[in-house]
Amino acid sequence: TKTVYTFGGDAPKPDARQKDKTITGGKGANLAEMASIGLPVPPGFTITTEESVRYLREGAAFSDGLRSDVAAALNHIEKTVGKRLGDAADPLLVSVRSGARVSMPGMMDTVLNLGLNDETVEGLAGASGDPRFAWDSYRRFIQMYSDVVLGLDHGLFEEALEVAKEDKGFYNDTELTADDWRELVGEYKNIVAQEQDESFPQDVQQQLWGAIAAVFESWDSDRAKIYRRLNDIPADWGTAVNVQAMVFGNMGDTSATGVAFTRNPSTGEKVYYGEYLINAQGEDVVAGIRTPQYLTRAAREEAAAKPLSMEEALPDAFGELSRTFELLEQHYTDMQDIEFTVERGKLWMLQTRTGKRTAKAALKMAVDMVGEGLIDEKQAVLRIEPMALDQLLHPTLDPDAKRDVVTTGLPASPGAASGKIVLDADTAEQRAGRGEKVILVRVETSPEDIHGMHAAAGILTARGGMTSHAAVVARGMGRPCVSGASSVSIDLKNRSLRIGTRELREGDTITLDGSNGQVMAGEVATIEPEMEGDFGTLIGWADEHRRMRVRTNAETPEDCRMARQFGAEGIGLCRTEHMFFDANRISAVRQMILADDEAGRKAALEKLLPEQRSDFHAIFDAMAGLPCTIRLLDPPLHEFLPTGDTEFAELAELTGVGTDHLRRRASELHEFNPMLGHRGCRLGITFPEIYAMQVRAIFEAACDVARDSGEAPIPEVMIPLVATARELAILKALVDETAETVFAEKGARVEYLVGTMIELPRAALMAGEIAEEGAFFSFGTNDLTQTTLGVSRDDSARFLGPYVEKGIFARDPFVSLDIEGVGQLVRMAAERGRETRPDIKLGICGEHGGDPASIAFCEEVALDYVSASPYRVPIAKLAAAQAVL
Ligand code: PEP
Ligand code: MG
Repeated sequence: TKTVYTFGGDAPKPDARQKDKTITGGKGANLAEMASIGLPVPPGFTITTEESVRYLREGAAFSDGLRSDVAAALNHIEKTVGKRLGDAADPLLVSVRSGARVSMPGMMDTVLNLGLNDETVEGLAGASGDPRFAWDSYRRFIQMYSDVVLGLDHGLFEEALEVAKEDKGFYNDTELTADDWRELVGEYKNIVAQEQDESFPQDVQQQLWGAIAAVFESWDSDRAKIYRRLNDIPADWGTAVNVQAMVFGNMGDTSATGVAFTRNPSTGEKVYYGEYLINAQGEDVVAGIRTPQYLTRAAREEAAAKPLSMEEALPDAFGELSRTFELLEQHYTDMQDIEFTVERGKLWMLQTRTGKRTAKAALKMAVDMVGEGLIDEKQAVLRIEPMALDQLLHPTLDPDAKRDVVTTGLPASPGAASGKIVLDADTAEQRAGRGEKVILVRVETSPEDIHGMHAAAGILTARGGMTSHAAVVARGMGRPCVSGASSVSIDLKNRSLRIGTRELREGDTITLDGSNGQVMAGEVATIEPEMEGDFGTLIGWADEHRRMRVRTNAETPEDCRMARQFGAEGIGLCRTEHMFFDANRISAVRQMILADDEAGRKAALEKLLPEQRSDFHAIFDAMAGLPCTIRLLDPPLHEFLPTGDTEFAELAELTGVGTDHLRRRASELHEFNPMLGHRGCRLGITFPEIYAMQVRAIFEAACDVARDSGEAPIPEVMIPLVATARELAILKALVDETAETVFAEKGARVEYLVGTMIELPRAALMAGEIAEEGAFFSFGTNDLTQTTLGVSRDDSARFLGPYVEKGIFARDPFVSLDIEGVGQLVRMAAERGRETRPDIKLGICGEHGGDPASIAFCEEVALDYVSASPYRVPIAKLAAAQAVL
């Protein structure tokens, strides 16, 4: 198999392997593809990801095959450009970059200007007629190579540059002359010689292989590992290496470099969007060293910025760039994120990839592209990452709320967040771990800050543009971000900062509006999101295609209304115990639990009946006409017990029973293993009067709502934690009997079902028999995961972290269903249930009902519906549609 693929010049058209991102990485595959559709791409070659995996596995050794393949591919570049690497008269220079299967912004390493040494720098100066450019390139090369390959601290070089500028009284790098740069190169070489025992490598082959090795090894750097963990990227993918002829954006005022998106990645609008810098090299734009300029005249004018846009300064190259944008969108049928360089007026493409975008932009682009005929509705539905909708389903700042705006930066990533200021990533992680909402404030961010950015609710930087590290990463994570707020100055020593004229301290609250770049002191009120526009359009398309229904887990009328607004098609789980904790009722509940006998319990239940009836009345009203699964009481009784002295005293007064007696009853109820104890249907078997009260409340409310509104709710009474068919038979009889009594009293009936949860392995095994008693199954995968794995759902956080890190579980099984294991039980129970009762209704109401990967599995086993928390309903709808497309 080939280890190296060439592109550009007269390289052959890419074959299937070269087009495969898993082999040549995203960057390599796209460079070859761009070259093959006639776009200007500097010639180069890609070393496959397979080689990097081999290199890392075989203890940092290159194979002979790779050495000769690289030599041949280098020959392709030399022939195409007409220059040779290491030629003292007119040297070829190359870039060496990483390129994994998926883009990992800023995570891995790049070396530019490779091939320069003390000899070739003179050749470059002569051949280009621009010594300043040659020496600038050489010092850039030494700096990057020393950082990336030799592992020296890049701060040492920056310091030397700052000192040189200060000595000369310069402010900008562009003010330095050829001689200044030459002098600095001398200093840089001294730094290298001091920091390590060898001097800077002059052999260009040694340079090349050193850079290739460094890119291979960057796959296992700490920051790459963190990024992989946060983004679920497997460790065994490896990275490709791209070696490409250099083109130079730093050859004077007709040269430039830039990054661009074919549409606005923040809002989705169809406008070219990006930044460029005249007389600069690639890293200058992203690193935020100089403030980049606008691409289009319109953007410059809107920002009232002075420096000319690319459209104005380099009109020909800009025209070429616009044509390229259109070509790329037609070819890839998606928004592209591009890197380009203009060398003495000529445009070169250095990269294209599908651009990262905010959820809002993703929606707008998908809907617009259907309108433009670029993609169809199904592609649009498939294009949106369901979990990304989460960004849109949360509150935004109330436009009418008062805003104490302290400064305005760039609107780098939309959404709003309030939180306490933290000044470094570790503090962000610690305080967020304690449940605080924090805003990470940095001069600029780097890949070392990733964990803090993840922990933060929002990110504010003093420096950097819309394509800075902070902006790109924040958009990817869905965190609101304001970047380049230049009036922010940070005093790390005193843990304080100044914004404009305001003095603030770490821990003070600020609010960010990532949609307009505003930074506000204090907290600002928020409003609920809108479900219309592009969002509504796309969910409408998902609705047309999905097969499974989507219900919600809800127990308050507010949750029900919210879920209906989000498009819920019924309640999949109403956990009635939550209603028992209400301040007005808890004492009646306690009275019931601690009663000595049935009569005592009944007296307390009498008080609870009207309360429960009004709960269900409100819920049925909100869900008029839709099926509502109401689960009878489930948790261990001890969860309701009084604890403190005052609680016992209050209860004693209410019941007229002494506190000593109450305390004795409470300790009698103590359980060693409550999750496997006196809970679920075991409560109904031992204290039938509790369930009878709940069932009466359900049917009285249902009959009342049917009478008053004319639209009858469809109660589905659900029995929890069933292990045997007999338990369900006994309790179903109780439900039917109670329902008949109520119907007789009311002189009216409503349609209803009685069914059960499948949340114990025995229930899954015996599903065939259980289906004889129950008209529906709802998979309670929270308990089913707990009981199948023997892992306590309430204690697992203490040890599941390392389990996921060590790859024992790919994801937390309480978040994403363990399809291999627990999934087998679900599949089997569904099959056995259907054998007994072909029209049995099957659904899922564990947290997994809102997780896209688990939803895909539910489609596979053909459940009738999934049930998710209200905010997850649109996510579940989209995931359900994607599961059938
Ligand atoms: C379940 O166990 O999956 C379930 C939905 O019930 P609960 O979470 O209330 O135990
Ligand atoms: Mg449960």
